Amino acid sequence: MHIDIITLHPGLLESPFQHSIVKRAIEKKLVEVNFINLRDYGLGKYKQVDDSPFGGGAGMVMTIEPIAKCIEELKAQRTYDEIIYMTPDGEVFNQAAANTLSMAKNIILLCGHYKGVDERVRELFITKEISIGDYVLSGGELPAAIFCDAIIRLLPGVLSDETSALSDSFQDNLLAPPVYTRPADYKGSKVPDILLSGHQKQIDDWRHEQSLERTKKRRPDLL
Ligand code: SAH
Repeated sequence: MHIDIITLHPGLLESPFQHSIVKRAIEKKLVEVNFINLRDYGLGKYKQVDDSPFGGGAGMVMTIEPIAKCIEELKAQRTYDEIIYMTPDGEVFNQAAANTLSMAKNIILLCGHYKGVDERVRELFITKEISIGDYVLSGGELPAAIFCDAIIRLLPGVLSDETSALSDSFQDNLLAPPVYTRPADYKGSKVPDILLSGHQKQIDDWRHEQSLERTKKRRPDLL
């Protein structure tokens, strides 16, 4: 998989790709992530990338020319499955969308800032709009990092135990069951006996029941 992230603040994006599972996926060449600084495509001496909104009002709007030039340059190099704009009025991201998008080969992610991008960018270039939840952040970089983490961990070979992503919350519309590790007894607070029993079938049944119960209680909407 190849991901190009167009951003005005590459520094905001770096750290999530330099640690843990995502870092290892990049090292194993299972995914390539490329940050493109939109400022390099800015207009004039000051590399301008934004302007005040037509019709007045607060805040600045990201202009179409630098974004268009950047996306056109990228599209000349490869064919993209999706050109995604991170935006609070997009489709709310979930595990099903992560599963689908993890099968893409090439993706562009566009991070907005200020009041967002000129609407014509969305009309002319964007194939999908994704929100990470019903709240507004200052920029698309954190949403892009969250999106990338969610899809990269699903790529074959990224998680050491292939079944591990499948047992996470939401994969079967159930929340994950509780997990425990050593010590088996922490100051009198004990791990459920069943988990120490060695009966794998009973353990699997117990975990499924716990998942169901937790989902009924916390997220009945998923059932
Ligand atoms: N004026 C816009 C918000 C702009 S926030 C509106 O009310 O819809 C600035 C940028 O942050 C957006 O362009 C987008 O890229 C990013 N952003 C903010 N909240 C987001 C969210 N919940 N999901 C995805 N991207 C978001």
